[in-house]
Amino acid sequence: MQSGKQESDIPIKVRFAPSPTGYPHIGNIRTALFNWLFARHYGGRFILRIEDTDTARKVEGATQTILDSLIWLGLNWDGKPYFQSQRLHLYHEVIQRLLQEGHAYRCYCSRQRLEKVRQEQMRQKQPPRYDHHCRYLSDQERSKLEASGINSVVRFKTPLEGETSFCDLIRGQISFQNGTLDDFILLKSDGYPTYHLANVVDDHSMNISHVLRADEWLSSTPKHMLLYQSLGWQPPQFAHLPMILGPDKSKLSKRHGTTAITEYKEQGYLPQAMINYLALLGWSLDDKTEFFSQEELVKNFSLERVGKAGAIFNKEKLTWMNGVYIRQLSLEEFTQQALPFLNRDLPASVKRPLDNNYIRQVMPLIQERARTLVDVSQLADFFFLEELPYSTTLLLSSKIEASVAMHSLRIVQVTLQSLSTWDAASLEISLRPLAPELGLSTRKFFGLLRSAITGRTASPPLFQTMEVLGKKRCLQRFANSQKVLSNSLMEKS
Ligand code: GLU
Repeated sequence: MQSGKQESDIPIKVRFAPSPTGYPHIGNIRTALFNWLFARHYGGRFILRIEDTDTARKVEGATQTILDSLIWLGLNWDGKPYFQSQRLHLYHEVIQRLLQEGHAYRCYCSRQRLEKVRQEQMRQKQPPRYDHHCRYLSDQERSKLEASGINSVVRFKTPLEGETSFCDLIRGQISFQNGTLDDFILLKSDGYPTYHLANVVDDHSMNISHVLRADEWLSSTPKHMLLYQSLGWQPPQFAHLPMILGPDKSKLSKRHGTTAITEYKEQGYLPQAMINYLALLGWSLDDKTEFFSQEELVKNFSLERVGKAGAIFNKEKLTWMNGVYIRQLSLEEFTQQALPFLNRDLPASVKRPLDNNYIRQVMPLIQERARTLVDVSQLADFFFLEELPYSTTLLLSSKIEASVAMHSLRIVQVTLQSLSTWDAASLEISLRPLAPELGLSTRKFFGLLRSAITGRTASPPLFQTMEVLGKKRCLQRFANSQKVLSNSLMEKS
């Protein structure tokens, strides 16, 4: 870890500045993570600023979900979160200054007028933008409009000529022609600032040294630069993070499946796997190392290793990585993590509270196979169900004739009734020799036993599974499966 300063000697301070207009998705959290890693790497500060000035698009519960997501992932922020809605006075002060100094002007145009202008521009195949109508009002016209009490917004007086350039830490030198930038709105008619104004005022007043944000904000940056210039403020350094794409290379969206981070929690992903995977969306250490603990990421993170090209989000890979992290948990940790999922996901017919001792015996057989914590209940439900969903198709899936299968299960049942030590080794010693005696291959014979014991064709190792299930349950299952086969034989005859 370094001293809170980068080469430039400016104390490092970054922010995650989400708008509570929806639940945070993969892209938002990747931005939060890169800011957090950058701050922690340099021993700087990472603050959280909720940009809640778009009252129309505010989503109930979004702020809480943002906080919950960061907490779940361990992305701790410094100090208390800021809320822009509580800082309106600051933006109003800056607006006054910009108006007085001639960098901004009030615009009284009605929605209808703006719409007409837009239609006309579209007809003439021009880019839609404000036509400067109120920029050139005389003082007299302005006073008259003011006196009429008509609603107004405040617009920035964008220079008509020249260009605005800045050096992006990831993308290099970037220039925009001022003539293309529009007289963008700074203050809306409801008295709330737009994103542009509040973002710049806050980044300045909070001494933000670096703005690390998604690529989609790149076109806003020249506007912000112009605002900094007109206010005589030193802008922060900018780094626009590469876009996140779906496997089809289009921008990641709901179409590509789950995007809200909280859903990954519900789906049984571990925070440490999420962090590891998200870190690789745009950053790499050496193009080959895939596994990083949080500490290793902090140690190694740098903007130099963030690429320009879009990063592809591949849920399959995340799930695979999650499985690796699950296998790395101690058995105790895995059991603790799995418990709430078992409680939530096991069928209602399974008696609650669940038997913790029994769960502790089941979990070692599941941990190797689960890729998410949701898999746990799916892989383990047969340990808990009283009635298994047998069918003749399942019981005969290893291609044994029904009467032979029934007879074999009967022999197994009788053999095991007298078994005094019920453990995997003893079970194997008693059962293995039965296959040749019954004229069956071991594969077919064990396949039959597996389907009778687990109600499925794939499961953890048979004898260990039987040991955990216990003698009573196993004998019951052998009896039940014989019944199913005998019923079907009777129906046929
Ligand atoms: N409120 C913006 C967002 O939702 C912040 C963009 C920025 O970081 O400047 O992403």
